[in-house]
Amino acid sequence: LFITIEGPDGSGKSTQIKLLKDYLQNRGYDIVLTREPGGTKISEKIRSIILDKENKSMHSKTEALLYAASRAQHVEELIKPALKDNKIVICDRFIDSSLIYQGIGRNLGIENIYNLNLFAMEDVIPDLTLLLDIDMNKAKKRKENRGNLDRLESEKDVFHEDVFNGYKKLKDLYPKRIKTVKANGNIKQVHEEIINIINTFLEN
Ligand code: C5P
Repeated sequence: LFITIEGPDGSGKSTQIKLLKDYLQNRGYDIVLTREPGGTKISEKIRSIILDKENKSMHSKTEALLYAASRAQHVEELIKPALKDNKIVICDRFIDSSLIYQGIGRNLGIENIYNLNLFAMEDVIPDLTLLLDIDMNKAKKRKENRGNLDRLESEKDVFHEDVFNGYKKLKDLYPKRIKTVKANGNIKQVHEEIINIINTFLEN
């Protein structure tokens, strides 16, 4: 079972993904928790190139290809073997982040990014995607409080606005796979909503 979690920067993904992992582990499931860009040694190296603030002149096509390269390694080295071993893989961001950040945010087109990533991930598509839906100003505040922003996080407001609007449309693209989670509440409320969605999914 392959579960991904998606949402704009500051939506609380990393907090929620850890709580979800603990919850499922306590219920006896074998969990692999991973993230993108990253997840393997090579993919984490690619991550640091992508996020390095010194790489200001990186072309958007280069960026899209690096995300896809990082994903290809991640899929082959970690995700496919874990799924074969019947583990539940939970991944912080996956293809949808590329569709939104590079397809919409960078204006490269959702279809171009999808086709590019099809080569990278082949038939490894998430079974379930939790999309954290948060108020834009709330996410912005959280991000600012955290400080030390990476190259993408420090992008101009209009980029992040496009990303926010893009995520709103994502559910319509994949209505069956994507479940929207209202993420404006506190940590516990959001966790409980996620648990409800997961339990319904596991029962069916
Ligand atoms: O979620 P996380 O903070 O690990 O993501 C790292 C950075 O990469 C974030 O700033 C995120 O917005 C950006 N990103 C991106 N395109 C993707 C995936 C992540 O711009 N496909």
